[in-house]
Amino acid sequence: MKQDMIFDTLRDQLAGDLYTDQTQRILYATDASAYREVPVAVTRPASVDDIKKILAFARSTGSSVIPRGAGTSLAGQVVGPGIVMDISRHLNRILEFNVAERWVRVEPGVVLGELNRILAPHRLQFGPETSTANRCCMGGMLGNNSCGAHSIIHGSVRDHILEVDAVLSDGSEAHFCALTTEEFNSKCNGDPALLETKIYMNLRDVLSDKRNAEEIRREYPHPGLRRRNNGYALDALLNTDPFTGNGEKINICKLLAGSEGTLAFTTSMKLNLVPLTEDRTGLVCAHFSSLQDAVRANIIALKHRPAAVELIDDYILNCTKDNIEQNRNRFFVKGDPQVILLIEIIRPTLEEISETAAAMERDMLAAGYGYHFPLFTGADEMARVWELRRAGLGVLLNIPGRRKSVQVIEDTAVLPELFPEYIEEAAAVLRKYGLSCAYYAHIATGELHLSPLLDLKDPDDIRTFRGLAEDIARLVKKYRGSLSGEHGDGRLRGEFIPLMLGQHNYALLRELKKTWDPYGLFNPGKITETPPITENLRYPAGERRSFRGTVFEFPEEEGILYAAEKCSGSADCRKSALMGGTMCPTFMATGDEDKSTRARANILREFLTRSPKKEPFDHEEIYRVMDLCLSCKACKSECPSNVDVARLKAEFLQHYYDLHHVPFRAWLIAWLPRLYVPGMLVRPLTNFITGTALFKRLIGFSVRRPIPALSPVTLRAWERRHGRKKSRAASDNAVSKSGINGLEAGNSNEGAPGISHPEGSSGPKGTVCLFADEFTNYNESDIGIKAVMLLEKLGYDVVIPRHHESGRTFLSKGLLRSAQKIAVKNILMLRDVITEERPLVGIEPSALLTFRDEYPEMAGKSLAGDARRIAGNALLFEEFICREIDRGNITSDSFTGKPAKILLHGHCQQKAVASTAPTIRMLSLPVNYKVEEINDGCCGMAGAFGYEKEHYDLSMKIGEMVLFPAVRTASAETVITAPGTSCRHHIADGTGRKALHPVEVLYDALIK
Ligand SMILES: Cc1cc2nc3c(=O)[nH]c(=O)nc-3n(C[C@H](O)[C@H](O)[C@H](O)COP(=O)(O)OP(=O)(O)OC[C@H]3O[C@@H](n4cnc5c(N)ncnc54)[C@H](O)[C@@H]3O)c2cc1C
Ligand code: SF4
Ligand code: SF4
Repeated sequence: MKQDMIFDTLRDQLAGDLYTDQTQRILYATDASAYREVPVAVTRPASVDDIKKILAFARSTGSSVIPRGAGTSLAGQVVGPGIVMDISRHLNRILEFNVAERWVRVEPGVVLGELNRILAPHRLQFGPETSTANRCCMGGMLGNNSCGAHSIIHGSVRDHILEVDAVLSDGSEAHFCALTTEEFNSKCNGDPALLETKIYMNLRDVLSDKRNAEEIRREYPHPGLRRRNNGYALDALLNTDPFTGNGEKINICKLLAGSEGTLAFTTSMKLNLVPLTEDRTGLVCAHFSSLQDAVRANIIALKHRPAAVELIDDYILNCTKDNIEQNRNRFFVKGDPQVILLIEIIRPTLEEISETAAAMERDMLAAGYGYHFPLFTGADEMARVWELRRAGLGVLLNIPGRRKSVQVIEDTAVLPELFPEYIEEAAAVLRKYGLSCAYYAHIATGELHLSPLLDLKDPDDIRTFRGLAEDIARLVKKYRGSLSGEHGDGRLRGEFIPLMLGQHNYALLRELKKTWDPYGLFNPGKITETPPITENLRYPAGERRSFRGTVFEFPEEEGILYAAEKCSGSADCRKSALMGGTMCPTFMATGDEDKSTRARANILREFLTRSPKKEPFDHEEIYRVMDLCLSCKACKSECPSNVDVARLKAEFLQHYYDLHHVPFRAWLIAWLPRLYVPGMLVRPLTNFITGTALFKRLIGFSVRRPIPALSPVTLRAWERRHGRKKSRAASDNAVSKSGINGLEAGNSNEGAPGISHPEGSSGPKGTVCLFADEFTNYNESDIGIKAVMLLEKLGYDVVIPRHHESGRTFLSKGLLRSAQKIAVKNILMLRDVITEERPLVGIEPSALLTFRDEYPEMAGKSLAGDARRIAGNALLFEEFICREIDRGNITSDSFTGKPAKILLHGHCQQKAVASTAPTIRMLSLPVNYKVEEINDGCCGMAGAFGYEKEHYDLSMKIGEMVLFPAVRTASAETVITAPGTSCRHHIADGTGRKALHPVEVLYDALIK
């Protein structure tokens, strides 16, 4: 309580944010590493003034601060017990940009990918690129001295940092930049009472000492090694004019690079930029029968000046073998290579690329290495090769079972020429522990990523984790390598710095830290005084929790907890809308960590692991963080670990409601399809009442949203009348009521002679079982009617089988047991009806896709087979049309030749579980229709989410990110189309434009 009151005083003084609640602290307790420590508070400073106040507060209360960007550190750099200072939310402005001199000055929260987007039109970029470029912040990159696949050309941040403005531990401000010896000495001779002067004096004293210089030169990684991130970079400062007379200016920014937030708080940084190459790029995919051949061939490749050399082994390649989509990306793989080197060549012309590739191949073959060397220069081919590598690495994150790919020896670097011997010894170390793992390397710079499978809840595996780390550290030392090539020391490698750099140098690092930070304010426990590697691990050792009684089927061991633990913290879900993709819309709209997919997985994991309550689901904290999840399912497909938060949320809600009660609004929304039945009896009255502000207020809906009205007739009622009309019009062989079990009366009956067809239909091409989902049936039956007419016109019999609603409203509101009952009923009703030749075809993606996504996971063992079979034959309308195009049953001849421009917004669940490609293909049937898909994610409405009064603003904000502007700027003649019912309503509410279902667009295009 007292603590909270102290923080209240600080909160009042800040322009930014301060949180001391348990939820926020838990969400900032982890990064992308295996570590966890709950901070005392979380701040999001908005100015230098804020930063100073927070530092002063921490000093006066004996606390510490942990500067943090996107939190993608893999070694626990941003895990600690102090005050987390999240720079990503407010400190993200580009301050100055000089194209002619090629530099930019930025605040530390600027995201690398976003910066490069702004620089690209000027043909400039920031050189070092991490694979986390779409979310990592420049301050974090400086903190970790990051680099990427092209480090052979661009080096690391240390090579491009020009100036840094920082707040020092005593609250004073300092500006660091390149200094001549004279300027450096003048700094050293400044006011000795100033912290800045003490810092310069310490460096001068340490680096001008002969013994120190000898120790640094002897013990630090080999000077030829480009990737080096162990300890403070004293070696980089030693080789400058003040200490060697070599004419090179000294720049303390190089020391800050890789200092992991332990020395000062960066408030802005001036960065060197490099030109975007105008040259051509080629990719040689060199195949090898052994790892040794490949690593030796790498030395040959380096002689030909490649831009990058990446090593992937058969383990990674084979991960993609069973994946239908990735199989198409294996086009370049010949035979069964044990290793492929991806060698990127950049040259002014394609001829030069071919010559280099050919010369390289000759040299490798002459040395007896490699057997296949395809060269690709097309952008699409190269993208597919990189995509295969990315997918293979993604699969590694999803290996089922307790053991997961663990970051422990994932970041070593040795000189490439020593790599063959080093890798052999590293493999022996793995064998010693009975481990094997995938080999993946930025081999041009000697960087090796090994991530063995370990279970960090198992005390034996934790011992292995420790033993392995130490053995590899000793091995790297033997080869004069760097224990960290790019990921940094953090909690993972800090313990081994004395071993890596020698005790003498470690003492210098401690002295340096003490000079900069006598208060122990900045990120303690990193680089110096690091606790043992096994302390503060994310999971309590030896603890297994069992979660039975879930509605969805989760893995047997630890069930839903296992599913939440799949989140590695990689923060792919923290990218902005500018970076494209669909995950995670709520983070994209707000920039708040607590509205990211990661936050939702983290909060669930935390309480399922450490709840003090008997019922671990009984936590309002989880409820509040889950509440803003739109259940759009983008994470299910886009998260590299396939964390499916929509499913986790639904399961959580059911258990939470079991302990509390189902809120009235959730109950109402879930049961709406059933309430529509009496509602239809008094339709005008129903529509009137639901349109009133009073009604909306009563049920907690936003008064700013019109509620979808009931259609004049339900699709089923129309279809019954339509069927009767067809029967009358047909011959004596009219359809009888009997026939296929479960088919709606009045419809045609497959197998019966003389099936009726509407006037003008081209003949019996088959029967379609149309799913009269609850939204189409009651609210938009006109679309359903057009779907029937369209299919009949194209020559199909359409039947609406007996079935219940899809259960989507129950799923989205967490009434899972009711959804399960519906699923079971539907499976029982449809299992004898639906076949490959009589598929279930759906109009509304969110409804139809329940058959494919949720039913098989909730049907129970006895019905799982039936559920999977129906799922295999449950098609979206557009998927059915495409199937029939492929069979030659539908052609463009049935459609207009007039031109039209179509702008498509895909449904989020369709994107995640299926694809929008069939929609585009179907809409392109009219030969002169030009279809463009909006590059966006969830529209923001997400079923009932956007109707709920407290969610209205967020849903509109999400719409405004990409969708609404795209619709507004479309010409008046452009046809806006969206398969999702809520998307169409959202588009109308947000832009005033009417969007059509693709079925309507195609129906209108029919030659009638
Ligand atoms: C899947 C994955 C792939 C990765 N691939 C690469 C890769 O290819 N290359 C690579 O180099 N790294 C890689 N990383 C590691 C990581 O992404 C990089 O280190 C990245 O630059 C960190 O940025 P961030 O914003 O997440 O920083 P954070 O993790 O938030 O912070 C990093 C460090 O910087 C410090 N810091 C942040 N802001 C400040 C500030 N204002 N003042 C002082 N200190 C500050 C922090 O205290 C911390 O020590 C990868 C990580 C993941 C999860
Ligand atoms: S939810 Fe997925 S993308 Fe987000 S941090 Fe977790 S693993 Fe990474
Ligand atoms: S379902 Fe959508 S909103 Fe929810 S966490 Fe996943 S990506 Fe974010």
